[in-house]
Amino acid sequence: MSDTIFDKIIRGEIPADFVYEDADMVAFRDLHPQAPVHVLFVPRKPIATLNDLSAEDTALVGKLVLAAAAYARREGFAEAGYRTVFNCNHDGGQTVFHIHLHLLGGAPLRGGFA
Ligand code: 5GP
Repeated sequence: MSDTIFDKIIRGEIPADFVYEDADMVAFRDLHPQAPVHVLFVPRKPIATLNDLSAEDTALVGKLVLAAAAYARREGFAEAGYRTVFNCNHDGGQTVFHIHLHLLGGAPLRGGFA
């Protein structure tokens, strides 16, 4: 898989506004936020798209979701609600080919998917 901007952020070669990190992932604010809170949860393991996941990644994907929910709780908007999204490939709107979970919240979000 080719090096992406997220690999450079994980290695500290490009700055980002980190809000969380552990052995499996980093989380930082999206450069172009689509909501008052827009954080990307990115596994350190370079996986290009959801199509490239294998059974061995099951726990990793679960950890991304749990970390996003924990962040929403810490920041106080879990009960109000939020949205999590994985985009996959062109039709899904994916632009960075290193899987990441978008967490959007902090205000009522528009409905719909397109
Ligand atoms: P995708 O479209 O692949 O699902 O999401 C990629 C996200 O990464 C976009 O929301 C975009 O704004 C964000 N992004 C792209 N480049 C950078 C960057 O250099 N830094 C940060 N913090 N976010 C970025």
